[in-house]
Amino acid sequence: MSNRLILASGNLGKLREFDQLLRPLGYDVHPQSAFEVPEIEETGLTFVENALLKARQASRVGGLPALADDSGLEVDALDGAPGIYSARYAGEPKSDERNNARLLEALAEVPEGRRRGRYWCVLVFLRHAEDPVPRIVQCSWEGEILAHPRGEDGFGYDPLFWLPDRGMSVAELPAAEKNRLSHRGRALQALAEHLPRPSGED
Ligand code: IMP
Repeated sequence: MSNRLILASGNLGKLREFDQLLRPLGYDVHPQSAFEVPEIEETGLTFVENALLKARQASRVGGLPALADDSGLEVDALDGAPGIYSARYAGEPKSDERNNARLLEALAEVPEGRRRGRYWCVLVFLRHAEDPVPRIVQCSWEGEILAHPRGEDGFGYDPLFWLPDRGMSVAELPAAEKNRLSHRGRALQALAEHLPRPSGED
């Protein structure tokens, strides 16, 4: 088995995070742009379906094992919205600011205490495009949706995502802490335990 791996994402921040974790395990992580993998339409109805679609295409085009992630925010009072549509909740073009404004509007009548939600991150690893046994990890991060934004860091819904046991929003949390606690950080740690070793004994 090759120790090269394609990351089915164009996000350089994600590439760095995945590389830091996977390099010590013997993997050499390459962005899908290096293989000219085209953007795929995310037609699945779940995070896992969309991550599988992305990983399969990257592996097929690049001819290497592939890793894909899909993530989003699920809010109970909104029957799970924005869910798989988190990135485009307020329509095209994607905008964190407009997404946050739409979320606040949707929750305007929902009182404190009934604004629970969670971030989800799903990671899928395929040894090859026809791999019948994808390695899949799904991790969540619980919180509450604030009525007003707080903090400057992070991205997406972070200024509205309140961590009750920390007494701060994710946008107020230091980056290293976020990486340790977040849905994505913990999914990455968990995935590392499920990955086949590049030496090929798995
Ligand atoms: P994707 O997985 O990069 O497609 O991200 C999906 C969307 O979910 C992002 O555009 C954000 O709106 C939201 N999201 C996922 N993870 C986070 C996070 O850690 N903080 C804030 N928003 C997030």
